[in-house]
Amino acid sequence: MVPQGGNTGLVGGATPNMTGDAVIISLARLDRVREIDRANYTITVEAGCVLQQVQAAAEAADRLFPLSLAAQGSCQIGGNLSTNAGGVHVLRYGNTRELTLGLEVVLPDATVWDGLRGLRKDNTGYDLKHLFIGAEGTLGVITAAVMKLFPRPRAQAVTWFAVTCPRAAVELLAAMRSEFGDRVTAFEIIAWPALALVLANVPDTRNPLRENHDWHVLLELSDTSLECDLADQLERALASQMERGAIVDAVVARSNSQAAALWRLRESISEAQRVEGFSIKHDISVPVSHVPRFLELAEPALRQAFGAVRIVAFGHIGDGNLHYNLSKPTAVENDRFIAQTSMANRIVHDLVASLGGSISAEHGLGQLKREEIKRYKSAAELDMMRAIKKVLDPYDLMNPGKVV
Ligand SMILES: Cc1cc2nc3c(=O)[nH]c(=O)nc-3n(C[C@H](O)[C@H](O)[C@H](O)COP(=O)(O)OP(=O)(O)OC[C@H]3O[C@@H](n4cnc5c(N)ncnc54)[C@H](O)[C@@H]3O)c2cc1C
Repeated sequence: MVPQGGNTGLVGGATPNMTGDAVIISLARLDRVREIDRANYTITVEAGCVLQQVQAAAEAADRLFPLSLAAQGSCQIGGNLSTNAGGVHVLRYGNTRELTLGLEVVLPDATVWDGLRGLRKDNTGYDLKHLFIGAEGTLGVITAAVMKLFPRPRAQAVTWFAVTCPRAAVELLAAMRSEFGDRVTAFEIIAWPALALVLANVPDTRNPLRENHDWHVLLELSDTSLECDLADQLERALASQMERGAIVDAVVARSNSQAAALWRLRESISEAQRVEGFSIKHDISVPVSHVPRFLELAEPALRQAFGAVRIVAFGHIGDGNLHYNLSKPTAVENDRFIAQTSMANRIVHDLVASLGGSISAEHGLGQLKREEIKRYKSAAELDMMRAIKKVLDPYDLMNPGKVV
């Protein structure tokens, strides 16, 4: 049985293996918002609700559901839960796991577990919902969830600025967090090759700065108060960082459409990359403080192995999570390029492991990384995962061939 949400997952979790005897369970028709509790700041939704639908329902109740990712028009909350999706607001609100209070799950033996509790405090033994979050459909089918809501921001300020290097970006992140606290809701890094792909392949886009720079940051601040002159405060902070030489050039959005245009540059990178052929993709995380070291070491190692490869680095640097993709040099055939995936993985993943990182920060393991993870997780950890799978799903009915 292969539970399938919006099928936007990037590791082959929602597609059947090659045996031909799998049954796909579509959650699409389980799409009701069951309840919004404004006082409890919770929303109870069925698993097939599309993420954007959940965001809209929360907004209609003057609340915020903060999970936000480029696939939000298609991915479903059940898929988000099963992959513990991250997205652009993890820095402020956490991953899907941190947004979840309760679950309803159908277990492999058809037992329905009603754990739909909207409690912020409940210390009554093992917190079982966490087993199903991020399990990629290997332990049961999530049918509904109670998710946390937040006060809706009334003011937002978005800036796009250039920095000299990733180290400067990490230092600026710390400075902005000291100055603006929890109002820093997104902090994304974009290397020049990623922006260049967007400018070349996505219509109606332009470089927001006067010149091309190696590294860019998109920073978003949000506040629940309208009276706070957020854009002015941001401009003052940027000016003082420019004086120090930490920021090379910057632009602050002065309207919602300008802010949307800046976000579009960030969110179109994957689409722009597809236009230019196959990529070898990595979804890695290291402690935020180690991101510059990772970038400093990874590039020369890859250049030595691959020569003219294009390194398309971008992502949620505020969470230490980079999408570190290799795009083929134009002359190389797709098949020849993609055949080198294992060699690229070895270089990138070994480096990530040496820096205490993860080879899958937000996309999961699915079929794609099921073998690869064996190199990086300890035997003790893998054994515990297999033991849990065996207890809940002794006949291996749920999503066989994925994760463990
Ligand atoms: C353009 C683009 C941008 C993306 N950006 C991000 C990002 O910023 N952050 C991020 O984390 N991910 C991102 N993703 C990946 C993807 O959108 C997420 O993993 C998302 O959470 C998957 O949701 P889905 O409904 O499409 O799940 P699917 O792809 O359908 O399924 C994913 C896994 O969950 C299981 N599953 C689905 N529904 C259930 C259920 N009800 N019960 C049990 N198991 C279930 C499936 O079996 C599968 O293993 C992006 C993808 C795209 C295409």
